[in-house]
Amino acid sequence: MAEKYQNYIDGEWRDSLSGETFENRNPANWDEVVGIFPKSGKQEVDKAVAAARKAFNAWRLMPAPKRGMILKKVGDLMTQRKEEIARLMTREMGKVLAETRGDVQEGIDTAYYAAMEGRRLLGHNAPSELPNKMNLSFKIPVGVAGIITPWNFPMAIPTWKIFPALVCGNSVVFKPASDTPATATKLVKILVEAGVPEGVINIVHGGGSSVGMAIVQHPDVDLISFTGSSDVGSIINSSGGKDLKRISLELGGKNAQIVMQDANLHLALDGVLWGAFGTTGQRCTATSRLILHKDIHDKFMDMLGESANNLKLGDGLIESNQVGPVINEAAREKIHSYIDIGKNDGATMLTGGEFATDGDLSKGWFYKPTIFVDVKQGMRIEQEEIFGPVLSVIKVNDLDEAIKVLNGVEYGLSSSLYTQDVNNAFKAMRDINCGITYINGPTIGAEAHMPFGGTKRTGNGHREGGWEVYDFYTETKVVYVDFSGKLQKAQIDVEYE
Ligand code: NAP
Repeated sequence: MAEKYQNYIDGEWRDSLSGETFENRNPANWDEVVGIFPKSGKQEVDKAVAAARKAFNAWRLMPAPKRGMILKKVGDLMTQRKEEIARLMTREMGKVLAETRGDVQEGIDTAYYAAMEGRRLLGHNAPSELPNKMNLSFKIPVGVAGIITPWNFPMAIPTWKIFPALVCGNSVVFKPASDTPATATKLVKILVEAGVPEGVINIVHGGGSSVGMAIVQHPDVDLISFTGSSDVGSIINSSGGKDLKRISLELGGKNAQIVMQDANLHLALDGVLWGAFGTTGQRCTATSRLILHKDIHDKFMDMLGESANNLKLGDGLIESNQVGPVINEAAREKIHSYIDIGKNDGATMLTGGEFATDGDLSKGWFYKPTIFVDVKQGMRIEQEEIFGPVLSVIKVNDLDEAIKVLNGVEYGLSSSLYTQDVNNAFKAMRDINCGITYINGPTIGAEAHMPFGGTKRTGNGHREGGWEVYDFYTETKVVYVDFSGKLQKAQIDVEYE
């Protein structure tokens, strides 16, 4: 029997008001129903937002270090349950256990960072231009935070948003992706167990255009933090932006790894295999383009083609498997549609390009690791986010051309350069227009305490992770204290000789 899940609103676990449900199936075995979830809508969102608003005042007045201690307990509970959550996540969205363990670990790291941030949340003080007057600034919470997340990092991404929101004193209404509601519910259960008061954290399950949009449009939601596709991000920005909500958008990517003629090719090979086919290519930071210097192109492609064919596909719960299924049928169809697009545009398919259906793979959404060569700048497979195990290889003459190709897409999330030449490395660090650049490492591998995000259509300028995200979840309050005992007028009573 599949487990039945509920919404958590105003401190109570509840079904949807209509009683309607939706199910979530294992992408490695579509016969397995992972869970049954309440199909909710605007009415449930209204209740959750009202609860969050009611709870906000007491929560904002709790000392931030005390809120931080609750986050510390959250990190401890996640550590105890790491394996249990990782296994559930693998069943729910398919990536292999080593990766789902990493996803939970990122949440744990984020919890401990947030816990200590409760003791920091630093403001400033600055001298006044007038005597006997003091100027200072400090951070105050924004209010009710609407959090909308994708399925590919079902634990890490919600924690990147919810933990800083909470430690800064905001209350939260959370809508996880419909493909990963079970992992999200585990997280909320841990928050409740660790002592987050009722109403401060709420989770509402249901579709993006119903529950998600109801959160975005709710007049009492002060800020939206969204991670997902650029198309949905743009809709959210238009809708929430007209009400002047604060909105953080972390969106798509079309990331590239450059390999120069002087690179350690074995290192670069390990990097591209992990970057392109880890998480079955379904990372916003996945390597979907490989830019090779002409002098090593043929040699490197011989190495890569063979290694990609040897990757072991299968159920992520089996430790020896390296590549899990893609998330669902629609995703597999979309990925597959790019095979004809690539061929019609003149690229050559080196390997893959088809469903993987042998033996145990027959009941899952498996897709063979796919590599296109002879790819030219501007082809659709080189420009568009495919979000699957498809790599496009482009041959270039020198580093200038490599950077031009790398920058020539509408996204700007992650990037990587393999070289032994320190001058080239620094030139690339300066000239690549992305939020993240790795030198001699793959395009994936962000650490929880570093700012994360991208340029261009990858977002709207905010960053998650690290110290920067705390600015998003707070307002800056400035206070002037005049202890002169008389009216002093700024700019007017100031005399400079
Ligand atoms: P998605 O389709 O945009 O969905 C993301 C979330 O938005 C889900 O919870 C979805 O709900 C919800 N949603 C959908 N339509 C909505 C609407 N009209 N109003 C409000 N919410 C709505 O993206 P995805 O397929 O889950 O994730 C893959 C995308 O995320 C890729 O483009 C990837 O690059 C990007 N991503 C970016 C980052 C980053 O940090 N830059 C990280 C990870 C992923 P339902 O699930 O119910 O549809």
